[in-house]
Amino acid sequence: MAAIIMAFAGGFGAIVGSFLNVVIYRLPRGEPLGLVRKSRSGCPSCDAQILWYDNIPLVSWFVLRGRCRACGWGIPLRYPLVEGLTATLFAVTAGRAVVLGWSPLLGALVAAAVFTAILVSTAAIAIQHNRIPGGLLLTGGLLAIVPAVGLDDFPLSELGYDMQANIQPALVSLLAAAAGSGLAALALVGLRTLYRVFRSAAIGSGCVGLGAAAGAWLGPRLVVTGLVVGFLTAVLVGAILCLLTRRRERSLAPFLAAGFWVAALWGEALERLILG
Ligand SMILES: [Zn+2]
Repeated sequence: MAAIIMAFAGGFGAIVGSFLNVVIYRLPRGEPLGLVRKSRSGCPSCDAQILWYDNIPLVSWFVLRGRCRACGWGIPLRYPLVEGLTATLFAVTAGRAVVLGWSPLLGALVAAAVFTAILVSTAAIAIQHNRIPGGLLLTGGLLAIVPAVGLDDFPLSELGYDMQANIQPALVSLLAAAAGSGLAALALVGLRTLYRVFRSAAIGSGCVGLGAAAGAWLGPRLVVTGLVVGFLTAVLVGAILCLLTRRRERSLAPFLAAGFWVAALWGEALERLILG
């Protein structure tokens, strides 16, 4: 059963990843996403319309060997990478949701998929442009309200068990979203001030916004775990990247996004592991 759900989630993830590629390309350039009035995607180089069979997630890039059929323009490796990554993350999320017994499964999975999509597009834009559109972060954070209100006992955001007994579940989730959002933003503003003193701009306002958006999804407990995982990953991977490449300025956002995603699925397991 879990394998079937994972396979479906993976296939769906590849399609969502294909859409995220459009978001990642158009949003930083201020182009409309074509959500309201459907605009057919064209080749960024020669403007030729992309035919449906050249627009199949993951498959088409390999069939076309990374070249536009009309003009031979090199389609960036980012396209299959984002599609493959999103497919993998969706499949893992589904598998983890079955293990953790998320319920209602479909509602929780859709919410987790939206959260994952926000993190993937944010990380990819941060890597390419070194800044994150504020509108993406604001929308991403506000979207957390939907599962917080709509899903009883939303699995990600929690205030702490004893506080929940006397308050409406939806209100608890909203309070948790606000607390998580504020806590993560405050922690990152604090670190940012610290970094300013040391004359480095690794934590931009985009990172603070990302923290606030993810905090709304995760609540005050899991978001701290996410921050810790993100920072540790950044230190480890950053050290390796510094040895391998010359580029020194690197956004923290992709590492934070990874930390928040891990916290959503393994946060409680990590807390148990660390706190005993
Ligand atoms: Zn072309």
